[in-house]
Amino acid sequence: MTFAPEFPSPPEEKEEKKRANLMKVVAIEDIPQRDEIGKAPTKRGRDDGLLKVYKVCKQMEKVCDEREGVGLSAVQVGIPWRLFIIKTDGKYEYFLNCVYEPIGDDVITSIEGCLSLLSESGDFRRFELTRSLIVKVTGQKLTEVNGLTIESFSAYIHAEDQGVVFQHEIDHQLGPDGLISNKGKEILIW
Ligand SMILES: [Zn+2]
Repeated sequence: MTFAPEFPSPPEEKEEKKRANLMKVVAIEDIPQRDEIGKAPTKRGRDDGLLKVYKVCKQMEKVCDEREGVGLSAVQVGIPWRLFIIKTDGKYEYFLNCVYEPIGDDVITSIEGCLSLLSESGDFRRFELTRSLIVKVTGQKLTEVNGLTIESFSAYIHAEDQGVVFQHEIDHQLGPDGLISNKGKEILIW
């Protein structure tokens, strides 16, 4: 997706722009191989960067809700950032630059659908995957408390308590090659 410029557009361009800004799940080959934020070392640049990421998160929420998903990674909508959203108890949380590591050797068998991998009839294709029972997730979180803030994030998460969703979304960005894994790049503005 692109971001609208600050100045008003002529009316005839507006409809076109509206369509262009609609976010949707994209094909693997449509994920751009570049970082659209870039570096912005000033406070103003940082605030603009946070706002840009936040706006993307809000758009991703809409896509995720429309498709009745529980999580969505930015690479799935064509944005090559290590950013994903997860819905917990009806509310979304926004995670950046996260990694996970298995804690212990216990695994479970997980049946997972993916918004990016639909059958020809438009249904989710479901996959049986081996997932770690407990993972330690570390990275950053974007919150709206006292304005937009990035805080560091670290948690031990059980498979039954969103651990599978975290593993799935992080694999979209950092996982082994294949499917749409390994496409996200670190967000480097802060
Ligand atoms: Zn997926």
